[in-house]
Amino acid sequence: MADPKGFLTTPRRLPPRRPVEERVHDWDEVYVPGGLLPIITAQADRCMDCGIPFCHDGCPLGNLIPDWNDLVSRDDWRRASERLHATNNFPEFTGRLCPAPCESACVLAINQPAVTIKNVEVAIADRAWESGYAVPKPPERLSGRTVAVIGSGPAGLAAAQQLTRAGHTVAVYERDDRVGGLLRYGIPSFKMEKHHLDRRLWQMRAEGTKFRTGVGVGTDVDAAELRARYDALVIAVGARAWRELPVPGRELAGIHQAMEYLPLANRVQEGDYDRPPITAEGKHVVIVGGGDTGADCLGTVLRQGAASVTQLDIHPLPGDERAEDEPWPTYPKIYRMSAAHEEARELAASPEADADARLFSATTVRFEGDAPGQGRPHGRVRALRLVGTGPEGRAEAPGDGRGERVLRADLVLLALGFHGPERDRGLFGQLGLELDARGNIARDASFGTGREGIFVAGDAGRGQSLIVWAIAEGRSAAAAVDRYLAGDTALPAPVGPADRPMTA
Ligand SMILES: Cc1cc2nc3c(=O)[nH]c(=O)nc-3n(C[C@H](O)[C@H](O)[C@H](O)COP(=O)(O)OP(=O)(O)OC[C@H]3O[C@@H](n4cnc5c(N)ncnc54)[C@H](O)[C@@H]3O)c2cc1C
Ligand code: SF4
Repeated sequence: MADPKGFLTTPRRLPPRRPVEERVHDWDEVYVPGGLLPIITAQADRCMDCGIPFCHDGCPLGNLIPDWNDLVSRDDWRRASERLHATNNFPEFTGRLCPAPCESACVLAINQPAVTIKNVEVAIADRAWESGYAVPKPPERLSGRTVAVIGSGPAGLAAAQQLTRAGHTVAVYERDDRVGGLLRYGIPSFKMEKHHLDRRLWQMRAEGTKFRTGVGVGTDVDAAELRARYDALVIAVGARAWRELPVPGRELAGIHQAMEYLPLANRVQEGDYDRPPITAEGKHVVIVGGGDTGADCLGTVLRQGAASVTQLDIHPLPGDERAEDEPWPTYPKIYRMSAAHEEARELAASPEADADARLFSATTVRFEGDAPGQGRPHGRVRALRLVGTGPEGRAEAPGDGRGERVLRADLVLLALGFHGPERDRGLFGQLGLELDARGNIARDASFGTGREGIFVAGDAGRGQSLIVWAIAEGRSAAAAVDRYLAGDTALPAPVGPADRPMTA
């Protein structure tokens, strides 16, 4: 570290976001362009270079955080980029999208605000691209072995890049028309503009990875035939089976799953539509679900010009401080204000809820709608009835209508999470895959499915998780495949299939 007293003299500073009034009228990232660079060197210098850096354990990739903080504080961006890319294939994704469990584990965070690790990461990644350090790294020689990766989300992409660089000939099969998984169709562009993804895909193509889009494995091509054509398969199909809300009125028109709604908004940005087939424009919207997917819906709804929007969270309002059972260095459940919540607060978007549009301790009991119309077997949703919940998330009202509250709703978005990969019978049946007790694809300690040469990486095997875990899984699964194909491997394996985030 250039200044050993940096953590004493420099306060934590975050880059400025653009004014809400400006940013809700476009789909660009919310931060002021160029706002990070002037502050980031001093922020990196806040790192104490502690003897035992717990941030390493907080990050599933084992990112070498103190090393690159030190290099940034010394203005050595090239070496910082090398150190960062040694453990992370896609730091410009995690630097924008990761909830940064590393910062919760930062030693400075015991009694001061943590080092802005995630911002240092994205600054290094962006600088690497601008300065030409992020060049394609094709293998020096080919192994003659072939691998098919099924699914092009962060897990599939990380596995494909590692295996290509190790000399194997890799093709990624993706059922969507574009590559990227949830990075492309799910995560809104105000969180990550898609040119960051396209730039990495350019690098991967230049290294030799092939992409086959619009091919559903198990439906468009037979998975067993694919297995026969390649020396190994990596299944990275994500965990897209969404949770339902089985309450009266669910069948009404105007109630959609978040993942039916968000990809359409992404497609407008890709130029597929002028106006999305499902839009919040002029509507009273209720988002059911208090997680990050719900927050992504919130930011999207605001940009589409909703008349109002309220987000329901079944959990109670979290506190501002760590609870006793979530001590440092774990990632605690505390009150967090995303950019979308900040926007909702400033725009006073909900007439019904707290300032940031969220209603906590609330659960939906039924939807109400108008009468079925011509050609419409069901009416359209007009209202949502909710009751308060206790600490366990159970409804506290008697169930006879007393204690119910009514919210106006002509668009409802369900963001209730996912329960594993879609039980696509083609893929599962053709490969003989089995599910574990949690409903994810069963695998052994080497990411193998028990079927010869077939491996699983990312949310498909772990359940719904985070991008940083997906990249870490892709890297580890690649190491397992390389060992299977070559007898040994020099590829890193940052996580095992059973590893989980730190808990007390
Ligand atoms: C709306 C939303 C927002 C999120 N935001 C964040 C965030 O900000 N930060 C964060 O860390 N995490 C976030 N997550 C979680 C994160 O996106 C996932 O954990 C991560 O994308 C999982 O990566 P994956 O590669 O395993 O799967 P996915 O990204 O889901 O990719 C799986 C791919 O497989 C393809 N596929 C499926 N079946 C087949 C088949 N049979 N043949 C061919 N292709 C197939 C799919 O089309 C898809 O492209 C978010 C999740 C959602 C739903
Ligand atoms: S990937 Fe996430 S956990 Fe790891 S260093 Fe970056 S922000 Fe922190």
